[in-house]
Formats: sequence, structure tokens, C-alpha cells
Amino acid sequence: MHDKRNIPGLRADSSWDLPEHLNMAAQCLAQPAEALALIDMTGPARRDISYGELAAMTDGLARYLLTRIQPGDRVGVLLSQSPWCAAAHLAIWKAGGISVPLFKLFKRDALASRAGDAGVRFVFTDAEGADLLGDLTEAVMVEGAGTDGGPVPFADTTPETPAVLIYTSGTTGSPKGALHGHRVLTGHLPGVAISHDHLGQPGDVLWTPADWAWIGGLFDVLMPGLALGVPVVAARLDKFTPEACAELIAEAGVRNIFFPPTALRMLKAAGQGLDGLRSVASGGEPLGAEMLAWGRRRLGVTINEFYGQTECNMVASSCAADFEPRPGCIGKAVPGHELAVIDAAGNPTEDEGDVAIRRGSASMLLEYWNRPEETAAKFRGDWLVTGDRGIWEGGYLRFVGREDDVITSGGYRIGPAEIEDCLMTHPAVATVGVVGKPDALRTEIVKAYVVLKPGAEASEQELQDYVKERLAHYSYPREVAFLDALPMTVTGKVIRKELKARAAEETQ
Ligand code: ATP
Ligand code: MG
Repeated sequence: MHDKRNIPGLRADSSWDLPEHLNMAAQCLAQPAEALALIDMTGPARRDISYGELAAMTDGLARYLLTRIQPGDRVGVLLSQSPWCAAAHLAIWKAGGISVPLFKLFKRDALASRAGDAGVRFVFTDAEGADLLGDLTEAVMVEGAGTDGGPVPFADTTPETPAVLIYTSGTTGSPKGALHGHRVLTGHLPGVAISHDHLGQPGDVLWTPADWAWIGGLFDVLMPGLALGVPVVAARLDKFTPEACAELIAEAGVRNIFFPPTALRMLKAAGQGLDGLRSVASGGEPLGAEMLAWGRRRLGVTINEFYGQTECNMVASSCAADFEPRPGCIGKAVPGHELAVIDAAGNPTEDEGDVAIRRGSASMLLEYWNRPEETAAKFRGDWLVTGDRGIWEGGYLRFVGREDDVITSGGYRIGPAEIEDCLMTHPAVATVGVVGKPDALRTEIVKAYVVLKPGAEASEQELQDYVKERLAHYSYPREVAFLDALPMTVTGKVIRKELKARAAEETQ
């Protein structure tokens, strides 16, 4: 059980607890054999999977791998949430390979570019995945590949041995493969624990609607849950609907959830509250003060916002159990990660600057796969530069916007996050994306693309006045356009570059 004074992954002095030899599969299978590892809700009835069963599934696949891969070989995992998905990653790590999570919603080109870039030997998948792959690469069915014959030893790996190659969301450009060592799980543990008000309390059961092919599903939920002995729910909602979500929570006894902000916005727009939760963590996009307030009313918990990126995750977080959150801000630096806002010269600054993480963070990537220039460009001296702009407010990190999204208007630098957050508090607004639109006079003007709630009404003027009264005279949206939906990544993030392209087109 997680005691508040002991943050998992860290020693008492907040240094990383990384042994000389470390294998994530061993870390994830360290609980008693009879303990509950996974609650499988993907079939017609609930099925409980113990650590012993998960270890046996892992061994079967690991034995298959032993004769087929060399240490460091990449093996794809094209499986959605299921015990087999977990076992596939664990087996690859156990055998000393590098797992490459692939998303079931990818079409052929998206799969081809990632599998090709990673140079996978083959892909662990199911019949559906084999169809998707076609002749792209060899598909190995997980059910059936496993062979009996007793336990397989854990490959002798270190914290720095490559273990997982995971692609970024591709929100700003083409997805990049972040290569992580076996220390990446340890690097996530402190942030995961505190973003759930000390995960590992009696009765905790963890779930996320985010797919396990992404860092948020795989390393914010599945693997930390296994490592901390907190049962993880494997479920697939064909479509995320508020009713299906509420039903699953009740049936599986979910108490702790990682909700991407977009899922929370959908619940809010549908007027759906949830009961029985002990903790809700959210990150990946700005949460905003309005959603924090809504969470207290309708989820009965204070949502803990966290921050990180595929390259270095879980580096800032709130923890309502330990300190009051600051509405509109993310939270504080997570112990173990040295987080800073730095200027162009690489020095920490009190002003707005680049959010950066000092080398030494256990969740920091080893490198971008096959992209030495991009790896070099990611660092400024000892700092990994996230590409996000931020500012400290009384020890809390405020997210201003992605560097490319910050709007320059009439000499002011305006972060879209604050304007979006403000508009979200308007009762008619379901969701909103704010971007800079090229403007001859002001360089850019603030443009808001708004999706209204079903049946709700609001005029451009009304929304402009709403922001003007609450933020600053210069940051109100000079233009407001109404859309039926915003362009979203498959992970549910607003693709501002598409809104920007649209705005630029309107200018011409
Ligand atoms: P790509 O790098 O391919 O463009 P991406 O940056 O969206 O895609 P991820 O690594 O999944 O890929 O997302 C990390 C980014 O998400 C962060 O750099 C930041 O911009 C944003 N983000 C994460 N957490 C938060 C948060 N709490 N508030 C605001 N933004 C966040
Ligand atoms: Mg990124």
C-alpha cells in the first residue's frame, strides 16, 4: 500500500531508486501470484486475472520470442486493452526486446509509417489486427503463440537498456518515436501516485478510457497499476459515451480514473456526473479552472491535473490530498523531476519561458529513434526543452500554450489556453479552440472556433464581451466562428494546426 511519506520510485531523499539491473517486466510482476492484476471487462462477463495468470501468459509469449528475436529487436503490439496486450509488452521486455505500441484505430498508412520507422521484426496482434496489417509485416497471433514449459528468466537489462519505442501524438507535426529505457516506468511512478492522491489505498481500482497504445494508457495507467499492485480495468468502449462510462465504473468497481480533458468535457456537455470515485487525474491538454470546478460538483473529487509528454512524462502534478490546487494552473513539480521555466539562454526565469526538464529525470527518453538531429535539437544544455511555454505562479506551473500556438497580437503574446478556459465557463459553450489568424496590422488576431452545446445559443458579440470582461481588453477573440466539431487527434486533442490553417486560408 502506498504510504504518503513514501513516494514509489524514489528514495527518502527524492533521488531515483534505480537498481543496477532493472527489467520492467519483473517490476510489473512482483506482486503475489494470487493477487488481482487485471479486471478484464472486454468479454461478455467480467474476468479477473491474477498476477500468476498474467505471468504464465507472459512466459508463454516470452518463450516464443526467445528463439525469434535478439536483444534490442523491435516487436510491435497491435492490441487494444486486454490481458494479452499487457502480456505482450511484458513478454517482449522479459525477452530483452523493444516493444512498439501500435494503435488499433490506425489505418494502413499510419501503421506502415510507424512499423517501418521502427523496423519491427513482427507484430503481436489478433485476427482484427492481422487484417489491418495485411502484407505490411508479419502478424503473430498472441492467442496461440504462447508455448508451455515453465518460467523464462528475465533478460539481464539495466535502467538504460532500450525497452519501448512509443510514438508522440502527432499534434504539431509528424509523430516521432521516443525510445525509452527500462527506467521509464520508475520515472512515472511518483507522478502517477500523487496525481491519484496516493494511488495504492485499499480498494483502489484503476481505469482509463485512453487506449493502452499511448503513453497515457500504457505508462500512466496499465504498467504503474501493475507495478503498484493496483488492479487495472481492461475495457473497450466502442464509442466513449457518458452512459457507457458510468456503467463500466459501476460494474468494474472503478475508483481511480485517468480522464483526458476531452472525455471530461464530453461528460460535462452531457450533464453526466459520476459516483464512487476516489481520485481523478487528467492531463494531455489544459484542464482549465472550469473543469476543476465541475469535477468537484459532479464527480465528487478534486481533479488532479498533471503534465508531461511522450518524451518525458509525469513531471508536474497537483495532489489535492496534499495541497490546494490553483485553478487554471497545472500543479507543482513532481518529486524526482527537476522542472524549470527557462529563457533562450537556458537560465531559469520568473517570466514566461520554455518549460524544461533537467537531464536525470527517470522518465526522460534515451533518444528519438533514428533522428539524431531532432534528439540534439530537443536539448538546450542540460535541459530537455518541451516545446511548451509556461510561467510559475507561486510554485504552480501555468501552461501558456505550445510554443507554436502562442499568439502574437499588437505586440502582446497571448496564450490560447487562458482564453479557451474562459470561454469554457460560458454556459452555451461545449468546446473551443483558439488560434492566431494572420493579420496585416496586428501580426495576428485572436480567433476562437466554438462548438456550442446542443440547442444552446450565443452570438459572436456575446462571447467577445464575455472574454473582454474577464481577461484583458487585448486578448478577446476579434473573431468567433461556430463549428459543429473541432479537428481532433485520435487521442482526443484539438489539432490547432488545422484550425490555424483554416484561419490563414480565411485571411487570403
Ligand atoms: P507531437 O509531439 O507529435 O506534436 P503531442 O505533443 O501532442 O504530439 P504527446 O507527447 O502525447 O504528443 O503530448 C504531450 C503534450 O501535450 C505536451 O507537450 C503539452 O503540449 C500537452 N500537455 C500535456 N499535459 C498538459 C496539460 N496538463 N496542460 C496543457 N497541455 C498539456
Ligand atoms: Mg510533443
